[in-house]
Amino acid sequence: MRWEDFRVSENVEDRRGGGSIGLPGGAGGLGIGTMIILGLLGWVLGIDPRILIGGAETITRGGGGVTQQRAPQGKQGVPEDQAGRFAAAILGNTEDIWKEIFPAQVNREYRPPKLVLFSGATRSGCGAAQSAMGPFYCPLDQTVYLDLSFFQEMQRKFRAGGDFAYAYVIAHEVAHHIENQLGLLARVQARQREVGKAESNQLSVRVELMADCLAGVWAKHSNERYRSLEQGDIEEAIRAAEAIGDDRLQRQAQGYVVPDSFTHGSSEQRVRWFTTGFKSGQVKSCDTFRTSRL
Ligand SMILES: [Zn+2]
Repeated sequence: MRWEDFRVSENVEDRRGGGSIGLPGGAGGLGIGTMIILGLLGWVLGIDPRILIGGAETITRGGGGVTQQRAPQGKQGVPEDQAGRFAAAILGNTEDIWKEIFPAQVNREYRPPKLVLFSGATRSGCGAAQSAMGPFYCPLDQTVYLDLSFFQEMQRKFRAGGDFAYAYVIAHEVAHHIENQLGLLARVQARQREVGKAESNQLSVRVELMADCLAGVWAKHSNERYRSLEQGDIEEAIRAAEAIGDDRLQRQAQGYVVPDSFTHGSSEQRVRWFTTGFKSGQVKSCDTFRTSRL
């Protein structure tokens, strides 16, 4: 992938290198003034973590207890290291592309999300964020949270590395922001409070597959504008989508697959929806809530 010419976003806050913060309950030694009680916040606000936590994550659930963290202070502006610059460049490109196609296709102004880079753990508007959760989008502070070591994990654990695979992960999280701007996340959350677990998971799957499709829409327009894709890039993204499907992750984690508990969609679904968006370049092709074939 050729990303070196992408405009680098300034909506990045770099919280890396602040030392990792003990989680949960391991916050001994922090000054009282810098402590913030989190953890139950999502529950109090009635937010479903399956919506808050987007993308390619290998979710470690539980830990609903009270967590204490230092309020992080990140550096604003463009990161200087290669990985940080890459993330800022991909974000910048999603800004440029969505600013153009959002008004044209859905008649709305695009207001870009923020990106927080962290290592280990940090605080998010949706509660404590840990690397193990994988990248996610928090609609409450309209911010994508990303520990760049996730990309190493993709490479090492899933053999799904490559710069376009990583770009796809960022674009997927940005797509959750688009769903948020469309009012979809709020509607889904309201519905999820009314239905049972299986149906609630089904709704999450639709949200996730739509994000995969929207990532494909971005990829198509980015490539048209910047000729950014190189041989093998699409295969990279597809490998990533395959590798981080719920069925694959579950099989690795517990040796069998439980479709009712899927929240991201199977590998096949993720690949298919990404491809749908990439082929059409149209937001409206991504309506996973109105489709005969999910
Ligand atoms: Zn997601």
